[in-house]
Amino acid sequence: MLIMKFGGTSVGSAERLQGVFALLKDAQDKKQSIVVVLSAMSGMTNSLIEGAQKAVKRDLKGALQIAAAIGDNHVQAIESLFVKSDTSMQLLREIQNHMQELEVLYKGVSYLGELTKRSMDAVSGMGELMSSKIMAAYCQSHGLNAKWMDARQFVVTDDHFGKANPLWDKLTPKTRETLLPILEKGTIVITQGFIGATEEGASTTLGRGGSDFSASIFGVALEADEIQIWTDVDGMMTADPRVVKDAVVLPEVSFQEASELAYFGAKVLHPMTIAPAVEKNIPVRILNTMAPDRQGTIIKESTKPKGIVSAIASKKGIVAFFITTPRMLMTHGFLVRIFEIFEKHETSIDLIATSEVSISITVDRLDTISAIAADLAHYGQVKVVRDVAIVTVVGEQFRDQSGIAGQIFDAMRKTNILMISGGASDINMSFVVSDDQADNAVQQLHQAFFAKTAAVK
Ligand code: ASP
Ligand code: MG
Repeated sequence: MLIMKFGGTSVGSAERLQGVFALLKDAQDKKQSIVVVLSAMSGMTNSLIEGAQKAVKRDLKGALQIAAAIGDNHVQAIESLFVKSDTSMQLLREIQNHMQELEVLYKGVSYLGELTKRSMDAVSGMGELMSSKIMAAYCQSHGLNAKWMDARQFVVTDDHFGKANPLWDKLTPKTRETLLPILEKGTIVITQGFIGATEEGASTTLGRGGSDFSASIFGVALEADEIQIWTDVDGMMTADPRVVKDAVVLPEVSFQEASELAYFGAKVLHPMTIAPAVEKNIPVRILNTMAPDRQGTIIKESTKPKGIVSAIASKKGIVAFFITTPRMLMTHGFLVRIFEIFEKHETSIDLIATSEVSISITVDRLDTISAIAADLAHYGQVKVVRDVAIVTVVGEQFRDQSGIAGQIFDAMRKTNILMISGGASDINMSFVVSDDQADNAVQQLHQAFFAKTAAVK
């Protein structure tokens, strides 16, 4: 069984959708069982959220304009994909129903002047429902045996609206009992990424970019042979090609390396995607919808040895906290209290480095910085540095190699390093540098580790 997840651009234009259709047809001809997981059409989730934000600021007119634009976008997609027929009329009615529901939600939010995370989820998940309906109708009207299914019937989550967690004990049996009988008949299931529902039936979302995570959830629940993430790039690369011209695609990446890289290349793969797949040892393949014949990247448990360094990644726009206090010396429980502050503000910590009297922490959430800094101030001197970047060197078994650190530092000799963290996962060494030095650091590191291998080849 295959899980095939397609991003928002795959549904937007007739050409793209035909491409997806060809892939599905090919897979069905090969008698593969397929679950198709879809994102919203590009930009729609952002618009849905923007409308809600206008509504809560009592700009109902602005919100309704956005709703109208969202409706138009879908109507245009339908008109470009279908000749006028019962199917297209039915689809247009469904889009109209969604738009009416959206207007009611926006009005409610606007009258109450309150936008709960729960209402936001009801709004932001709508794009997936619409894109998947369009895709399912297109497939059916072109002779594919496919069925549209509402993911909220089986993706059971907790009620952490905005970033809900799968409730596996409920989700797995429900997904299996709902989808397996359909799949066994050779029917393709077309469903939504990103959304789920609580046991009581309230709509939830898995967090921005969560459709990849959905694909992995389906893969695990249904024990798929492979999870395919179809996107608009060729796969995971040795570095961001916008930063490093001669970056190349990595044909194979281990689960561990991918987890490190996913955080940085969130555009390629949502970081949560790997964890469930690891547990069931299901390979995840990244493929390009625009160039389906390219091999892409396969992420699996063990891979052929690549070289010591497999990729260089970076992430800008993060924040570093530096906490210094003599009270840390010889006391126990200090770190716990520091971490509790981050927990209280629901902010996840990315990198940590400590000494006897200081601790450095990076996060990528910006809206909680001041609140965290205020709480941290009870424990010592706090310095907050914004606009910094993490630069990471990912490779296999650094600990078994000598001289790697020397090579890395040599490549970074012109960079001002604010913080270093490494070794925890055996395959990663990370640095915090200022945003404006990050690209250069990545280029130097890439040059140091990849230009050499290229020369040897
Ligand atoms: N449509 C959702 C978002 O834009 C989920 C996804 O595309 O993965 O965040
Ligand atoms: Mg995405």
